[in-house]
Amino acid sequence: MTTLRILFWFAIAAAAMLGAVWLAERPGTLTAEWQGWRLDTNVGVVLIAIVVLILVGIAAWLLYRWIVGAPFALLEGWGESRRQRGYRELTQGLAAVAAGDGVEAQKHARKAEQLLAEPALTLLLSAQAAQLNGDRDGARRAFDAMLKDEQMAFLGLRGLIGQSLRDGDQTKALGYAERAFALRPQTPWVVHSLFDMQAQAGQWKAAQETLDSGIRRKVVTADKGRALKALLLVERSREAERGGSESDAQVLAREAFALAPERIAATTRLAELQIKAGDAKRATKTLERGWAVAPHPDLAELYLKASGESEPLKRIGVIRRLVTRNADDIESHLALAKASLEAGLWGEARRQLETAGGTSPPVRVCRLMAEVEERANADQAKVHEWLARAAVAPADRSWSCTACGAHHETWRSVCESCGAFGTLQWRAPGTYGQILPPDLQAELQGTAALPSTTGA
Ligand SMILES: [Zn+2]
Repeated sequence: MTTLRILFWFAIAAAAMLGAVWLAERPGTLTAEWQGWRLDTNVGVVLIAIVVLILVGIAAWLLYRWIVGAPFALLEGWGESRRQRGYRELTQGLAAVAAGDGVEAQKHARKAEQLLAEPALTLLLSAQAAQLNGDRDGARRAFDAMLKDEQMAFLGLRGLIGQSLRDGDQTKALGYAERAFALRPQTPWVVHSLFDMQAQAGQWKAAQETLDSGIRRKVVTADKGRALKALLLVERSREAERGGSESDAQVLAREAFALAPERIAATTRLAELQIKAGDAKRATKTLERGWAVAPHPDLAELYLKASGESEPLKRIGVIRRLVTRNADDIESHLALAKASLEAGLWGEARRQLETAGGTSPPVRVCRLMAEVEERANADQAKVHEWLARAAVAPADRSWSCTACGAHHETWRSVCESCGAFGTLQWRAPGTYGQILPPDLQAELQGTAALPSTTGA
């Protein structure tokens, strides 16, 4: 540009010089007559006059530009305020999103888009506004466009994961979560979401890798990671058994139980396999250790099975051996009451149930009391009294999810109602919220879902 301009001026100067030389070689005079005036001069003077006139013209033009320069400055200022207005629209739009006003947010988003030449910034606002207005296609378009921007790709993925989950498309959500994890493996919600999605899809090994990475990066605490890993191993053990490899199944179950004997699922898994392999003695040991830290009716059931004892009176002795390590727990009294009931020892059954129930017996105790009255003396009045009490009795321990509070008949690794992994605990209602620290609780209610280690 500059070179071109120099050449241009050089050409003009050369032409002027050539012209001057040409004129000098051809001298002559010029006469002008006008209204009685007469001017005699030579060509050189006229030319000089013309050049002077041109220079004066240029000077006048520059002066004019300097004087009316203000409008140009104003134009530049207009550009500046355009950006400022754009940012103001953006700010107002974000405020509208925070206030949950989708229509207002969209209005500001559109204006900001026109005013600002920064699509990355306005896309996020547009996406959120569209989401608030229930405009799924609009939101998806905006999130998709964000993927093209390096800075915004992660946010776009977060939006797309949420959108896919709301659409019920788990496969798509998992794909986006994997991409987000590849971008930022240290971000807690990414680790937690990916882990849960992999678990929901039954990809136990992949889930374990995600968990290991999370523990390494301190996104998951070592203690929580240990319990979760144990439950993943339980699932892998089930998978191995289904695949016909019982020795692998047992190796995995043993690892799970060694990691988290306080998880009832780990205890039952190992004991089941040991009984199946004919190793009743080992199964007995496993169940006794499990009962000591986390008693559950399923453990008593398996313990009786391992003993091979069918004589009702002797079965009471078997249960007594199991419960000695945790004699005061309600499960211990209930297990003894059940065994006594089956052996026809009504008095002993009643005594155990009274101890178990205390001043406000829970549902299970009331139901068993009704059964005792029915079988002992067929006292219908008392039976009805206990059944009526059962209807209003404080709720019992059950499998409930620490993330969403849902109840389940049997233990499963993934909560059916919220999709969290490892959150089912054997506990009475009302203990909800006490097991987890508040910050984790808050996290659980968001995208993340990590269980505590106690109970199940
Ligand atoms: Zn749940």
